[in-house]
Amino acid sequence: MRILVISDIHANKDALNAVIKDAKNFDGVWCLGDIVGYGPEPNECIEIVRNLPELKCIKGNHDVAAIGEMDISLFNQEAKDSMMMHQSILTKDRKKFLHNLPEKIEVEGVTLVHGSPRNPIWEYILEPYIARINYEFFKTEICMIGHSHQPLISSWNAEDGVLEWGAAQPSKTINIHNRMIINPGSVGQPRDYDPRAAYGIFHTSIRRFEFKRVEYDIAAVQKKIIDKKMPSRHAERLSAGW
Ligand code: ZN
Repeated sequence: MRILVISDIHANKDALNAVIKDAKNFDGVWCLGDIVGYGPEPNECIEIVRNLPELKCIKGNHDVAAIGEMDISLFNQEAKDSMMMHQSILTKDRKKFLHNLPEKIEVEGVTLVHGSPRNPIWEYILEPYIARINYEFFKTEICMIGHSHQPLISSWNAEDGVLEWGAAQPSKTINIHNRMIINPGSVGQPRDYDPRAAYGIFHTSIRRFEFKRVEYDIAAVQKKIIDKKMPSRHAERLSAGW
């Protein structure tokens, strides 16, 4: 099967549509959380995601916050402003969809979580030693994560004690070797200074993962953010890719 792997859409419908179009034919979709937060179109993004074929979807910290199941007092002011806007415009039905998402899914020898297998909602895997610890917290060959918005490849060989760790370059294809932690990057708010939408394609039978990037109309999304009187910083960062 050819699986489309997406994460951190963050209410960016234009980026999501560009990814779906670019991915062309896929048999199923794995979504690693944060459908909402920051961007201008949370309802629309949930509607697109939940109608994707053979969907496996877990929840992220912004999804939890958007349905009022998390204290957002520690969010910075801009994140709080957009989150309150999302809380007010999300329909009851879409909130229920977010509420019902699991924190973790195991499928085809892959564990899907938003942050880390140790702490699925909150932990960031941004350093090799954090990745190393987290290999103890999932049983499958591979763990796919989001949350940091940065494409990542890590592998762990328990026999020789070698940890591989590094950013994944656009268009990189890897064959699965040893146990691995993979982050496809963010669809709607990349943070690796490449503003193009990031996603992955996973071939389940041949165990191969492709990192992909696609351009979309960033200016159109920035205009929607400004028109909806959301924090301008959320618009500016899209063209910086950070
Ligand atoms: Zn996120």
